Amino acid sequence: MSELKRKIARLIEAAGPISVADYMSLCLLDPEHGYYTTREPFGEKGDFITAPEVSQMFGELVAVWLYSAWKACGAPANPVLAEIGPGRGTMMADMLRALERLDPAFQSSAKVVLIEASARLSKVQRNTLGQGAENCTWIADVGDLPEGPLFITGNELFDALPVRQYVKTAQGWRERMIGLDDKEQLAFVAGAGSLETSLLPEGADNAREGAIVEIAPARTAMMQRIAEVLARRGGAGLFPDYGYEKPAIGDTLQALRDHEYDDVLAHPGEADITAHVDFHALKQAAKSHGLSARTMSQGDFLLGLGLLERAGRLGAGRSHGEQEAIREAVERLAGPETMGELFRVLAVTPSTVTVPPFTSAH
Ligand code: SAH
Repeated sequence: MSELKRKIARLIEAAGPISVADYMSLCLLDPEHGYYTTREPFGEKGDFITAPEVSQMFGELVAVWLYSAWKACGAPANPVLAEIGPGRGTMMADMLRALERLDPAFQSSAKVVLIEASARLSKVQRNTLGQGAENCTWIADVGDLPEGPLFITGNELFDALPVRQYVKTAQGWRERMIGLDDKEQLAFVAGAGSLETSLLPEGADNAREGAIVEIAPARTAMMQRIAEVLARRGGAGLFPDYGYEKPAIGDTLQALRDHEYDDVLAHPGEADITAHVDFHALKQAAKSHGLSARTMSQGDFLLGLGLLERAGRLGAGRSHGEQEAIREAVERLAGPETMGELFRVLAVTPSTVTVPPFTSAH
């Protein structure tokens, strides 16, 4: 049994079953044994690969979008350029390089901030950025952002924030909790807590026993806090992630270990645990602050920003093998069978501003 599994079992013995949200938080960010606090999860050798780790083109195009957003907002002075949940720091390194080329004046006037909950990953990010780290500030919480209009991105941040689950029982909807079975193993149980019917998705009335719904107060709260800053100071946000547009019934909690799906209760702290993002809920949170919130598929977003042209320039004069690798990266980032359709990009802007490739129709 892993250290964290033992710790969680002791917690449950002492105080009763824990929520799926608390389990996710412990698995990912437990100070001693959490996945992000102790491991190097991203990349070919890690447990999964994220878009910025697939190719530098991803971060470059996100930088192009944030820069256009800054211009579309009237190029305000003293902007804050922030990334939340930067992982290994690869995307920030790619963004800073691209911005240096696009507009060195913007680069040098912007305060660059990385928002990271894991102290260990902050160190990894510092390392990745090398000399560039000298001009960056690290904070652990959105509340500590410096003053100034905010241009913020976060790739696969929201999927890592905890969800609560509810399960349909003969007695109605009950919070799905994690307890211990008679062999002292972690097991799902129905808790006492119920769910307000107003929070249930369409069709929940007729759901079968055992059906599961997810809600994510921690994600909504995070979006509320970011949106509040954007509404007050101006700026824009871009959040690529995987998920769905319409709230639905279903269990999307998943664990990935060594590039394979794993039982979510099997290896706490040793596997990445995520759940699909409810973009509708995030959009509502942003709109409640008077902002526009739009989504499109990652494929449309990257192709709309010129992924193919960028790939062509990157490949020019390179060997056949290198060009093939660039072609594969394009396919992986934007292809309908890979990340292009499942992944979506959420753009949050002032209601008067539209930043291509989004249009007012989105
Ligand atoms: N953006 C990176 C990493 C995604 S994993 C990439 O695409 O490769 C999620 C990241 O969010 C990790 O860096 C994790 O430590 C961080 N994170 C999780 N919860 C957070 C929170 N509440 N605030 C800031 N960062 C958080």
